Amino acid sequence: MTVGIVGAGQLGRMLALAGYPLGLDFLCLDSAREAPAGAVAPLLHGAFTDRRLLARLARRCEVITFDWENVSVESLAAVAALHGARICPPIAALAAGQDRVAEKRLFERLGIPTTRWRAVGSRAELSRAIAAVGLPGVLKTRRMGYDGKGQALIRTGADVERGWAQLGAAPLLYEEWVPFDYEVSIIGARSVSGEVAVYPLCGNVHAEGILRLTYAPFGPVRWQRRAAAHLARVLSHFRYTGVLAIEFFVRRGRLIANEMAPRVHNSGHWTIEGATTSQFENHLRAILDLPLGATHARGFSAMVNLIGSLPPRRRLLALEGVHLHDYGKRPRPGRKVGHCTVVEPTAARRDARVRRLLTDLAVRVRIP
Ligand code: AMP
Repeated sequence: MTVGIVGAGQLGRMLALAGYPLGLDFLCLDSAREAPAGAVAPLLHGAFTDRRLLARLARRCEVITFDWENVSVESLAAVAALHGARICPPIAALAAGQDRVAEKRLFERLGIPTTRWRAVGSRAELSRAIAAVGLPGVLKTRRMGYDGKGQALIRTGADVERGWAQLGAAPLLYEEWVPFDYEVSIIGARSVSGEVAVYPLCGNVHAEGILRLTYAPFGPVRWQRRAAAHLARVLSHFRYTGVLAIEFFVRRGRLIANEMAPRVHNSGHWTIEGATTSQFENHLRAILDLPLGATHARGFSAMVNLIGSLPPRRRLLALEGVHLHDYGKRPRPGRKVGHCTVVEPTAARRDARVRRLLTDLAVRVRIP
């Protein structure tokens, strides 16, 4: 049974690595010849919009999934219509996740608390949005924003022109700045037959818009319950298939949805070693309508992203209890090139190991 993956980044690579023990095969499509999943699975090389290549993927695969949320909705819809390809997660969820305005409307429609926001298409609309939402706020491109790209913080009136000059060429969204206490994410899977499995809540720390550190399990049970209820609403709304992640700000115990990702998520990488079944395996089980695996935490986990360049392998592996994942990418500032996970039987032991690892990596982040 072959699974097609549009996008062959590190998420595609980890999907393939999780699928081989289940007897699955993979075929990826990516525009980069050196894409990380290409080292572990056959790769069709070409544009994500190349209808000929998508048709080949459809002919050879049982189901098509994606490892990047900015793949073309139109191209996937065309391959589904012309070749009867089964696309998971659903294209409608992908479309909602690609447009911050559609995403906010979805949250509001499903009763999921989110930030105060306005769509911005002109300089005059920006002034009106700031008057309605207030300062400080964040101006974000509606599309193609990830890892903090396409965002400008508007602290005072003096920042408005700079923000507009920086981003004004694209359709935008302006939203309130949330002075959050924590950032958390909830990840779960829904199978073709409607079975749902949800992971323990994760606590996330970002720096310059990029995820640095994830802790799991995280937070009191009532946050977990509320986040899982919000996730369940989105899953059933789309009759979703596969893994879905929703990120929230937590402010004075209130969960405020920031964004969703219709795919396996960076804040779920800890599940490879830290949960009974990884998010990657459960994504595959879900889209192939196999029974979902248990999502219990095996202990107390932390995941640290390796950003820019990979420290010497020898040094990381000399640290006891550190699991290394090297994505096989060339170094570049701000690029996620790998991650490390630690899993310990107590939170105190996990924290001690993480401190040691962060010191060794010379990464300075606030531990949640
Ligand atoms: P995003 O790409 O929207 O997830 O933004 C990346 C990161 O920027 C988030 O994880 C937050 O750390 C920060 N951020 C984005 N929007 C806001 C906001 N409205 N208030 C506070 N922090 C934000």
